[in-house]
Amino acid sequence: MLIKPVEEMLLRNADHYLIPADIVANVQTDNNLYHAFLVLTKIKYSRIPVLDHAGHFEGLVSLPLITEKMLGFDQLNTDILMQCRVSEVMDTDIKTVQSVGDVEETLHLMVDNPFVPVVDSANMFEGIITRREFMKSFNFLTHEIGRQYDMIEKDFSNSSIAK
Ligand code: AMP
Repeated sequence: MLIKPVEEMLLRNADHYLIPADIVANVQTDNNLYHAFLVLTKIKYSRIPVLDHAGHFEGLVSLPLITEKMLGFDQLNTDILMQCRVSEVMDTDIKTVQSVGDVEETLHLMVDNPFVPVVDSANMFEGIITRREFMKSFNFLTHEIGRQYDMIEKDFSNSSIAK
């Protein structure tokens, strides 16, 4: 559990965490790999969301997943780009959150991931929370918490915590 003052201050900026779906670059499950390769190369993000036609979140795709599929025995098979679909290479084992207010779970997931997808209860893609946006709030918290709450240092010198 997060301690209350920290949770409260992080939640205050929660609305700013979300990069909404309409400005998140994405590809669709049935796009060919050539399309995904171009999108990833142009936008210069390493991983982007994959959606179905209705806008449900299906997974993430990255350039390494595509090039791995192209790897033959001794050379890259570029024909694969036209022949295969995003659904054949995407990573579907992705943890999502259902609300920007789910600060604790988001924090856990962002330890290993530069961004966390946000979906609604029907798995419709709503956007992403990036580490960058979250760190801005964390920065605010580290500067402001002492101004907004009384912080009293406890003496642990004789307790087992200090040993
Ligand atoms: P940032 O913290 O802004 O560097 O973003 C971290 C990661 O989130 C990027 O490497 C991308 O994988 C993803 N990302 C951020 N913004 C977008 C966006 N507008 N569209 C797609 N992916 C994004």
